[in-house]
Amino acid sequence: MSLKSLLAGVVGFTSAGIAATLASMPTAARPPAPDVPANPLLAPWTGPYGGVPPFDRATVELLKPGLEAGMAEQLAEIERIAADPEPATFDNTLAAMERSGRALARVRTVYGIYSSTLNDDAVQAVEREMAPKLAAFEDQVTQNARLFERIAAVYESREKSGLTPEQQRLAWVYYTDFVRAGARLDPQAKQQLAAINQRLATLYTRFGQNVLADENDGQLVIENEADLAGLPESVREGAAQVAVSRGKAGRWVIANTRSSVEPFLTYSARRELREKVWRMFVNRGDNGGATDNNAVITEILALRAERARLLGYETHAHWRLENTMARTPARAMQLMEAVWTPAVARVREEVADMQAIADQEGGGIRIEPWDYRYYAGKVRKAKYDVAETEITPYLQLENLREGMFHVAKELFGFQFKPVDPARVPVYHPDVRVWEVDDPAGKLVGLWYFDPYARKGKRSGAWMNAYRPQERFDGEVRTIVSNNSNFMKGKPGEPALISWTDAETLFHEFGHAMHGLSSSVQYPSLAGTAVARDYVELPSQLFEHWLSTPEILDRYALHYQTGKPIPKDLVDRIRQAERFNQGFDTVEYLSSALVDMKLHLAGAQPIDPDRFERETLASLGMPSEIVMRHRTPQFNHVFAGDGYSAGYYSYLWSDTLSADVWEAFTEAGGPWDKAVARRLYDDVLSVGNTVDPADGYRAFRGRDAGIAALMRRRGFPVPVVAAPADKAN
Ligand SMILES: [Zn+2]
Repeated sequence: MSLKSLLAGVVGFTSAGIAATLASMPTAARPPAPDVPANPLLAPWTGPYGGVPPFDRATVELLKPGLEAGMAEQLAEIERIAADPEPATFDNTLAAMERSGRALARVRTVYGIYSSTLNDDAVQAVEREMAPKLAAFEDQVTQNARLFERIAAVYESREKSGLTPEQQRLAWVYYTDFVRAGARLDPQAKQQLAAINQRLATLYTRFGQNVLADENDGQLVIENEADLAGLPESVREGAAQVAVSRGKAGRWVIANTRSSVEPFLTYSARRELREKVWRMFVNRGDNGGATDNNAVITEILALRAERARLLGYETHAHWRLENTMARTPARAMQLMEAVWTPAVARVREEVADMQAIADQEGGGIRIEPWDYRYYAGKVRKAKYDVAETEITPYLQLENLREGMFHVAKELFGFQFKPVDPARVPVYHPDVRVWEVDDPAGKLVGLWYFDPYARKGKRSGAWMNAYRPQERFDGEVRTIVSNNSNFMKGKPGEPALISWTDAETLFHEFGHAMHGLSSSVQYPSLAGTAVARDYVELPSQLFEHWLSTPEILDRYALHYQTGKPIPKDLVDRIRQAERFNQGFDTVEYLSSALVDMKLHLAGAQPIDPDRFERETLASLGMPSEIVMRHRTPQFNHVFAGDGYSAGYYSYLWSDTLSADVWEAFTEAGGPWDKAVARRLYDDVLSVGNTVDPADGYRAFRGRDAGIAALMRRRGFPVPVVAAPADKAN
C-alpha cells in the first residue's frame, strides 16, 4: 500500500507562514548579502533532464530557512496576483497561481524526502517547528479575500470566457478547493479555522513521530539459534543484518516494522515468540508513556469535528468525501458493507482449515491472531502445494524491476535506461535513477528508486512526484520516485523478496506510471493529483501483471541456477491466487470501517481504545484477525489529513482496477494494445483534467460495478446493483 506525495496535486497553492514572522523573513526576490550564499534548495534545479533536485547540496540545516524563504516568496507572488488592478482573467489569476510558489515547491520536495526517508532527530525538530507554520501559510493563501474574489470571478465566467475544458476544470478545482478550505467564512471563523489547522499540524507530526519512535525502539533480540526455528535463510540473514546495524552483531533482531514482523509471523515455529512479536507490533503507539497516541487521537478527532462544523458539514467524513468519486460516506459504507459480510464468511472457512491442521498436529492450539499467517502457510501448502519458500528464490528484486519495465514497454512503449550516477545526485547511496523515454525516444521523465529499509525511513511503500509534468509555459518533464522497505540480500547475493513484496513493487510502479503518463497543461492537474478513491486504480491494476506467465517465465529466475520458475509452480501460484482473501480483505476492511466510523461519530469526545473495541465487536470482527492498522498507529489517517475518512479508497479503486483487468481479459488478454491505448488516453494521461467518473466511462463504455471485484477475490457476486454502478 502506498501514500501519495506530499506535493502531488498541490503545486500552485499549498505552502505556509505566520504573518508575524514574515516581516523578518528574507525573500528570494531580495539579493542575498554577499557573505551569505543563496540557499541551494530554493534555486531552480540545474543539470540534465531539465534540472534535477540538488541532493548533493542539500542539508537538514537548509530546510527551515528554505521553507521560510519559499513561503515568503509565494506570499509576495500571491499578493501581486490579488492586488492586480486589471479585471481577473484566467491568465492573470489562475495561470499566475500555477506559476507561483515554485521555490517553495522545490524546497518542499527535499523536505518531504528528508521527512519520509532520512528522518532523524534533527529532521524531527524541523518538522515540529515547520508543520504548524506550513499549515498557517496555507490558510493565509486560501483566506486571502481579494485573491478568492478573483478566483471566483474566473470560475463563474468559465463557460463564456473562451476557456478550454482543461482550463475550466482548473477553475473548478481552485474554486472548490478554496471554498472547501474556508474561503467564504467570516473573518472570525477564518481565524478559528487557522488555529485548528495549526494545532492539527502539530498533532499529526507528533502522531507520526510517536509511531516511528515505537518502530525504532521496539525489537525482539534473539540470542539462541534454536529460536530461529522455521525461519528461511533469507529471513535469518535479514535479522542478522538488523542486529549488526543495531550494534548486536552475532545475534538476530526482529525490528518492530512490517518488513521484519510479517516474515517472522509467517515462518517462525516458536509460537510464544510469534505472540511476543505480534503484541509488540500491534501495540505501536499504544504503550502508555511519552509515545502513546491515544490522547493525540482524541484531540485530532475533536478538532476535525469542530472544523467540519465551522465549514458547514455534518461530519469530517462528509467534508472529506465531498470531492471524491464516492461523494458521500453513505456510498462508501455501502460498498464496504457489501464486501464485509462475504469476507467474514470466508475467514470462517480459512480458520476452519487452519484449525484442522492445528488439531492434526495435536498440542491443543486454538488459532489466535499470531497464528494466522503461520497456519495459512501450512494450509496453502496442503491445498495448493505452494510454499512461499519455494517461490522466493525466484523473486530477485532486480529481475522483477526489469519485469516492470517490460510491462511498461509492452503496454505503453516506455523505455527505461539507467542514468549515469555521476550525472544525477541522489540523497542516499541506495537510490538509483532511470531515464524514461517514449516510443519515439523523447524524454518522458525520471524514475528514482529507493527500495531498501533503513532506520529513519517511514515503513510501508509509496510513490512521490518530485516534480509534476506540465506544459502551459513550456514542457516540464516529471520526476517521480518509488520507495519501499525491502531487505537487502546477503553481501554478494541478490535481494530476494516475498510474493507480497513483489506485488507492492508492481503497485508502486503503477503509481509511477500514472505520474509518468501525465500529459496535461497545468501542474495542479497532473499525474496522480486525482480524487483519493481514484488514485489507487493504476497501482492496484499493475499488480495484476506480476502473475502473468510472460512476466514470471522471463523474469522470475532462480537466484542460484538462473533457471526460470517452473511452469507447474506458476500454475499452482495462479490457482492459489484467491487464497487467503478472507484474511486480506477483513484485515484491510476493518481498518477502513473503523476509520470511517471514527469520522462519522461527530463531536462527542472519543476514547480510541474503547471505540475501536466496540466498533469491531458490533461488526462481528473475527477474533483471529487484528486490524491492519490499529487506531494508535494508523498513519494514513492520523499523521495527516490525507487518507482520513479515506482508507476505504483502496477498495473503491479496486472495484475499478478489477474491472479494468477484465477489460483486458475480455479483449486480447493482458497485453492487448487497444485496451492499453484507451487506458493511457482516458485514465493514465489525463490526470485531473476530467472528472474521474467521466474518464472511466470513456475508457470502459460504462460505469464499474462490484462484480469484477468480487470475482477477483473469489467472493459470491451479488445480484443487486452495487454502489459503484452509480458512481456518478
Ligand atoms: Zn497505492
